[in-house]
Amino acid sequence: MDEQHISYIALGSNQGARLDHLENAVEKLEGEPRITILASSSIYETKPVGVTDQPAFLNMVVKIATNYTPLDLLKVTQKIEESGGRQQKGTWGPRTIDLDILLFNNENIQLNLLQIPHPRMFERGFVLIPLQELEPNLRLNDGRGIDTYVNQLTDKEGVRKWRSSFGVEE
Ligand code: ADP
Ligand code: MG
Repeated sequence: MDEQHISYIALGSNQGARLDHLENAVEKLEGEPRITILASSSIYETKPVGVTDQPAFLNMVVKIATNYTPLDLLKVTQKIEESGGRQQKGTWGPRTIDLDILLFNNENIQLNLLQIPHPRMFERGFVLIPLQELEPNLRLNDGRGIDTYVNQLTDKEGVRKWRSSFGVEE
């Protein structure tokens, strides 16, 4: 019950007041009694991937400690998405706020509702680059380092640092 787990959550927004959406979602995570934010990455601006005819995204990653189970953590992140006004359905499409659970300890979870590691994280520069900033020595389950994955990316150019953190101009 009190066992603390380490998890990384990717946040993204490309609709309306993008920075506010990120900030509100991080505040809501912080406000959860069973979640502690341990670190947060810079904020990156990212050209849209997949459906390219949509506004640019702001993306970041936070590292948390929690004693939620993975499925309960998913419920929390989905509640935050809904309260942030997310209605759009469909992978890759525009959204006010998206929260993806990237990693949960070293666990490998394959459920219909939840896959961890997040199955699309390894091809996404906007996830791997902020994750590497937070955790440059991170090793994935296969023993490979985060730098190996980042070096394999083909869309690195589309991801640039936008702010060092909330409210601070670079
Ligand atoms: P994406 O973020 O990859 O563009 P969506 O946010 O549209 O895709 O996908 C939402 C769905 O993904 C939810 O129904 C949720 O159950 C499922 N899902 C599976 N694994 C995860 C995960 N690790 N984190 C968040 N959602 C996940
Ligand atoms: Mg998502």
